[in-house]
Amino acid sequence: MVEEVTKMICITCPVGCSLEVTHEGKTIIKVDGHQCKQGLDYAQAELVDPRRMVPTTVKVRGGVHPLVPVCTAAPIPKPLIFDLLAVLRKVELQAPIHVGQVVLGDALGTGVDVLASRNLAAI
Ligand code: SF4
Repeated sequence: MVEEVTKMICITCPVGCSLEVTHEGKTIIKVDGHQCKQGLDYAQAELVDPRRMVPTTVKVRGGVHPLVPVCTAAPIPKPLIFDLLAVLRKVELQAPIHVGQVVLGDALGTGVDVLASRNLAAI
């Protein structure tokens, strides 16, 4: 298999180290530029199964605001982000809403719930 170098920014902490990952397919040969072991873990995850938290908003009926912020309870596979956003665009909640309330359970079969990020009172 051909050896490749992939550049990525570690987003695990605010330092944002620039990583150069030398790999053959999904097998890492070496990582340069990291300042801690979490950078190695991040590089491995990015190559094998990149995941992200997904914050967005969802429509609300009868609330003091028309939208409520929501977020996945854990990172989901990156290729599913736009599918999840399309599903959440169709969701409409009834106020009141409580922080931590499940907005969408087992999102797209990932086993990850989408939760309300704040309280939102009814009118
Ligand atoms: S490698 Fe370590 S220090 Fe650098 S961004 Fe990642 S977590 Fe932060």
